[in-house]
Amino acid sequence: MLSRCLRGGIRLILTLFVGTTAFAASAPVTVLLDFEQPGSSSALPALTAELHRLLSRADIQVDIQVKNSFAEHAEFKDVVLVKMKGRCSMESLSVAALSGERGPLAMTYSVDGNVLPFADVNCDRVRTSVQRASGRANAAQHQAEYGIALARVMAHELYHILAKSSTHTRAGITKQALSSTELTERNFDFSLRALESFHRAEATAAKP
Ligand SMILES: [Zn+2]
Repeated sequence: MLSRCLRGGIRLILTLFVGTTAFAASAPVTVLLDFEQPGSSSALPALTAELHRLLSRADIQVDIQVKNSFAEHAEFKDVVLVKMKGRCSMESLSVAALSGERGPLAMTYSVDGNVLPFADVNCDRVRTSVQRASGRANAAQHQAEYGIALARVMAHELYHILAKSSTHTRAGITKQALSSTELTERNFDFSLRALESFHRAEATAAKP
């Protein structure tokens, strides 16, 4: 199993396990969100909009679905399952969630060099990061920022999965280190180098 760490500018750490998965950019990639806790989707509109915006730069269409909203045996052609751990909301924060614990924000897994189309997102830790940029007051008013941050963490993981790249870039979403500000500021994107990696993977997948 390979591993890569993405460190936050203020010591946040994303632990990332990478490998290979083929995809065809011509068909939508279903991103299946599996919320660990019910009622955790208040940031979903902003998350959805930001993930569409980011991946459209790589000419990748995403179809974002919530796992519990369709039949148990539904089938998808290209799917990435994202487990949304913890409480994925800025509201109703517990004391423990406010503790500022350092640790992985998200991860993917690989076996024998082949990435599995699964990722885990630690919603509580992403929220802690957003709070460093937005403050802890009026948490409910920061759902959009939180959704954007979740989308950027997911986009970083999807880069490893879909672009089949284990390396990081010097700029953009796929940097090894992302600050709280970079998770929430306007117009933070994939770098040109990351977009090239997406396109190389697309060209490889398109070969017979
Ligand atoms: Zn990474």
